[in-house]
Amino acid sequence: MPLPYRDLHVHTNHSHDCRDPGSTFENLARLGHEAGIAVGFADHLDARHFEEEDLCFREENIGTYLEEFDEVKARYPETTLGVELEFYPDRPDLMELTREWLDRHRRDLDRVLGSAHFVYSDFAVTWHVHLRQLVGKRTFEEIMDEYIRGERAMLASGLADCMPHADVVFRGHRGIFEVEPDVQRRGQEEILDLCRDAIGRGMAIEVNLLGMVDGSHPDPSPSWDMVQVLAREGARFYVASDAHDTAGYVNGIPLVIKAHERLNGMGAELFLG
Ligand SMILES: [Zn+2]
Ligand SMILES: [Zn+2]
Repeated sequence: MPLPYRDLHVHTNHSHDCRDPGSTFENLARLGHEAGIAVGFADHLDARHFEEEDLCFREENIGTYLEEFDEVKARYPETTLGVELEFYPDRPDLMELTREWLDRHRRDLDRVLGSAHFVYSDFAVTWHVHLRQLVGKRTFEEIMDEYIRGERAMLASGLADCMPHADVVFRGHRGIFEVEPDVQRRGQEEILDLCRDAIGRGMAIEVNLLGMVDGSHPDPSPSWDMVQVLAREGARFYVASDAHDTAGYVNGIPLVIKAHERLNGMGAELFLG
């Protein structure tokens, strides 16, 4: 019998922002399996790091990476492999490298999650340390519009088939920026439209639980209200802990299960890819 749940956005210790050596394919797949969750891995694919010698996605390392995954898949057959692709709207050089990488390895992957985490090239909207550097230089509204522009370009590129944490721009700043209610309302409308664009392209929409796992947000990204609207419009969803360490992964397990129950309760279609 297939496992009842899926978590399709899990980072391993091959991601540069994972500091937990215990976050191996094996450990995470086993912990998921024991809880009834099929794990889909999604390490960061970021062309800025392609020159780093120990990067798992370099040609000389990718064979070992895929072998390690295949060994785990042999034990836990519902385990799947994706990447979380970094999209840079103003760096055609990096996007060309990414496209070439996908030409070589897309067939090794079950899915590609696409996100434009960075605004003004170097500042991740998911990281308060970066956002702090923009205080006094940019307003939240400008940052939000840059993020939306990047996401729109990501969708148009056709490189991805999954849209992770669509409204993450509202999640990373931890109150560093004042967000005017009318700016928030307009941003959420535009992000809903981005999701509709993604759905129109056949992409799946992620229900990202990271903020719930670390206790910083009561809702997933996008919010349950947005999920409800999109579910009525025929979106396909998948659940994501976006775990970056084993502790986060384990803490996310009950939330991953609850999120499936909530999606099932609203009659939402689940993406099984
Ligand atoms: Zn992300
Ligand atoms: Zn992630």
